[in-house]
This record gives sequence, structure tokens and C-alpha cells, in this order.
Amino acid sequence: MSTIAAISTPNAPGGIAVIRISGEQAIDVAERIFKPFGGKRVSDMAGYSCAYGAAYDGDERLDDCILTVFRAPHSYTGEDTAELSCHGGICITRQILRVILKNGAENAGPGEFTKRAFMNGKIDLTQAEAVMDIISAKGSRELKMAEQLRSGAVFKSMKRCSDKLIRILGSLAAWADYPEEDIPEVEPTALAYSLREVYSDISSLIANYDRGRILRNGISAVIVGRPNVGKSTLFNCLSGCERSIVTDIAGTTRDMIEETVMLGDIALRLSDTAGIHNTNDVIEGIGVDIARKQINEADLVFAVFDGSCPLTADDLDIIKNVKNKNCIAIINKNDTEIIIDSEIISNSFKHIVYLSAKNSDGLDKLKDAVEEEFRLNEMNFDTATAANERQKRCIECAMNSIMQAIDIIENGEMLDAVTVVIDEAEQHLLELTGEKITNAVVDEVFSRFCVGK
Ligand code: GDP
Ligand code: MG
Repeated sequence: MSTIAAISTPNAPGGIAVIRISGEQAIDVAERIFKPFGGKRVSDMAGYSCAYGAAYDGDERLDDCILTVFRAPHSYTGEDTAELSCHGGICITRQILRVILKNGAENAGPGEFTKRAFMNGKIDLTQAEAVMDIISAKGSRELKMAEQLRSGAVFKSMKRCSDKLIRILGSLAAWADYPEEDIPEVEPTALAYSLREVYSDISSLIANYDRGRILRNGISAVIVGRPNVGKSTLFNCLSGCERSIVTDIAGTTRDMIEETVMLGDIALRLSDTAGIHNTNDVIEGIGVDIARKQINEADLVFAVFDGSCPLTADDLDIIKNVKNKNCIAIINKNDTEIIIDSEIISNSFKHIVYLSAKNSDGLDKLKDAVEEEFRLNEMNFDTATAANERQKRCIECAMNSIMQAIDIIENGEMLDAVTVVIDEAEQHLLELTGEKITNAVVDEVFSRFCVGK
């Protein structure tokens, strides 16, 4: 395989930047452009050792650097690897990369270092996918899930299921191949029982999937309410900036405004909408229609009410509209005297949060309500969970095949047919871990990576 190089740190000024070189020629390339101050040769450096020196373009000295050498197979990629840490300026880092490329390395593609780690058997495909999840994790729960995946939890679970299937296939094959020998007949009830066990083990991998997906993608949340209840103030308070215009004039917000905000550890894809009421203003009317539509499309609705006045007909209309949605009632303006009819609210909503958007007071209670609504606190990080649609698809296909096998057995059909579908289930599990997979799928997985990882 060719020798590749890329800048592994962000494309921004920083204290240090790291340029990574991996492949058969990695140490030779590093030797051509780097001279240790101690006079030692790079090619004499042992694995896991560093040298302080300077990077050169021919005779021109570029920057003082630290070179770290990893010898195959004891590196991230499983190949010889050299990592240069230089001053973290964009210009100097690019200059050094250019010299490295001039001296025999090729530009690495997205995720190519991790792809090589996978190709060289250092990690399975679920662990490779976890690397990207760790990089993109926004909150600590998401990070925990990614870390669990990286440590091989999904891979190990799958292996256990796969081993059980192979044992079942083995006993079926022995019985089918040597009928004249004294091999006990495969007992259909016991076979169906074992398959149900594997089915239940595999299905546990997707039990938490939706909650995990919500954590990874963020919860799409929409703020709705009649005009002037403080929707835009809440939006600004959550986004930490004056993104949405706030006035005491009803109808100020006409368009929908979106922002990704963090509520504690939870990423919300939050939108502020026009106040829902009857209006003759054409533009505002379009905004109101969008707000109504958003109620149906979002994962979560924040229904905002003004605590300082009684409920109006518009409020009651909104209460009707958000029924059957994941919804949290927010009684805003908690810094004033609260005279709202709280009984109607408490009869209509499971979660009610009193807060003052103006004073940013009560946001922790809002976070608790969101956690409760999505039962995020009940997430169990001890059970392995599929991390993306690809993994989920493989698991579901394997589950379907196993269910088919159970049906065949229970209908008293030929055991040959069972062997075929169990084998199919096994193939889906191998696809999940990447042991049997097409190049197109591998390319697809790594295309989502950043260059340098
Ligand atoms: P929207 O129409 O629902 O988007 O409401 P705005 O965010 O534009 O706010 C309407 C008015 O209510 C403005 O005058 C805000 O200053 C005021 N307001 C918003 N939140 C609070 C709050 O928590 N307490 C008080 N006292 N006033 C608020
Ligand atoms: Mg507004």
C-alpha cells in the first residue's frame, strides 16, 4: 500500500499541529525531511520513541518539531507511522505537509488512516465507525456511547451471537451429512429455543437505538405559543445570543429561526416560530402555518404560556394542537406574579416547567423535563447499542433471518431450509463487523470521516 500523509489537527491556528505519515515508506519519508538535533538517524529510531529536531525542505530549515516513530504493527494503522508535531500555524503546517508529499508520500483520503487500521485487522468496522462518533460527540452521553462502541462492545456481542449460530449450523451439518452415524437427531424444539435466545441477544443491540440516535442527531425542538408569551426571549436565552428579535409588539417573529443549542448535555435543534393566532397579515399568516406544521414534524414541542395573564382562546387552541405530541408546557415570566389557570395546564401536560426566559432562570428544570420525556437518564451504557443506520440494518436483517428459521422449524419444514436462513443471518452479522463486506460499503463508511483521521 502507498505511503500517505495528512494534517491530523484542525485547519486552524493552535499550539501544536500534528502531521501523520503512514505506510511502508513512512520512516524513509520522515528521514528525508527531519533531522534530530542529537544527530541520530530517523531510520535508527525504535518504535514508540521521539526525537526533537527540525523539519527541512532540502537545506531550508522550516520549523522545530518533535518526531514520534511507531513501528508496524504497533501503530494506529498497523503500518510504520511517523508523526511530526510542529508549531500549530496553518501556513507552517501546510508547508511541512507539502515537503512530505514532495518526498514520497501521497495525500491521505478521508478517514484513510482508520480505514487502514480496519484493513490491517487492528479494529473491526464498528470500532472504526466509533472513531468518527468520538470526534463528533457533542455531549458526554453521546461520548459514552461512542466509547463503548470503540471498546468493541458491539463487536463482542455480535461475535457471541455469531458463535452460537455457527454452533447451531455445525450441529445441523453433522446431522445432515452423517445420517447413518450415531449423531443425535437435531431436536426441533431445542433448536427453536436456541435460535430464540440468539434473537433476543441480537435484538438487545437495537433496543436503545432510538434514544442513541436522538443524542447523536440532536432533538428537533420547536418553541410554539401565542404572540408575546416570550418564545423569542426563550430562544435567545437557550442559544446564548440575540438571534431572534424580541419586542412587546405581537407578530414580531414571522419566519422560523433555527439554531443548534446545548441544554446541559443535550443537543437541541431548536426553532423559534411565529406566535400562533388568527391574523390577516399575509406574511405573518405564512409564519403561523409553518409553526403549526412544525408541531407535527419536531421530536419535541415547547408550548410556551405567559404566566402573568390568564389563558386566552389562542392558548387553548394551542393546547389542543399539541395533544399527543412529545411536549413540555413552559409557564414563562415566572419573575412576575403568576395568575395563569394552572389547573388547565396541569390537566393537559405531563411536564410543566415554570421559568423566566428574561432572567434565564429555571433552565435546569427544563433540561430535567427533556431528560424525563426521552427517558435519557434510563439509558444503560452497559448494553452495547448499534450506532448508526448501517449497523441497525445488518442487525434487523439478521433478526429477520433468524425469525424465518424459527418459523420454518415451527411449521415442521425441512431442516435444510433452516440451514440456509441461519447462514444468511450469519452473513449479516459478518457484514456488521466488516468481516464480509463489499468495498463499496467500506468506502461509504470512510467517506464520512475527516481527512487526517
Ligand atoms: P414572542 O412573541 O413569544 O416571541 O415573545 P418575545 O420573546 O418577543 O417577548 C414578548 C415580551 O415579553 C417582551 O417584551 C419580552 O421582554 C417579555 N418577556 C419575555 N420573557 C419574559 C420573562 O421571562 N419575564 C418577563 N417579565 N417578561 C418577559
Ligand atoms: Mg417571537
